[in-house]
Amino acid sequence: MATNRTFTMLKPDAIENGHMGKIIDMIINAGFSIKAMKYTQLSEAQAKEFYAVHAERPFYGELVEYMTSGPIVAAILEKENAVADFRALIGATDPAEAADGTIRKAYAESKGRNAVHGSDSDENAAIEGVFHFAANEIF
Ligand code: UDP
Ligand code: MG
Repeated sequence: MATNRTFTMLKPDAIENGHMGKIIDMIINAGFSIKAMKYTQLSEAQAKEFYAVHAERPFYGELVEYMTSGPIVAAILEKENAVADFRALIGATDPAEAADGTIRKAYAESKGRNAVHGSDSDENAAIEGVFHFAANEIF
């Protein structure tokens, strides 16, 4: 079932490089409203679980290390067609392939350290939102 919500994280490189405010501004300017938001740091167990689908990939260990290396901003966003529209706003995984005007084109360092996460389906958006937020933190 299509929903109008997606889940995002501003990843440790984005925070470290001072891009938090500018990225949140791009998200709001693109028409998303913030339904939940927190500034936090993932534990190793949380990062491993969040990215469990990639457990067999060669970059998994590095990904977990990177995602636990500093604070992140986690958020649930709402907009019509949220999942697809947010993937379009963030751009391709590798910033070298990301279109002009996308968040990753502007702020990602590399394919690994790529500034922002966006859910890839409505189902995963719901799972990822609940992973990070309690019911009374979602508005
Ligand atoms: N990643 C990586 N190397 C790769 C592919 C992915 O380090 O070759 C990292 C990168 O941080 C990416 C995350 O793993 O955002 C999840 O990969 P996915 O293919 O789901 O990309 P996304 O959905 O984030 O665009
Ligand atoms: Mg993905």
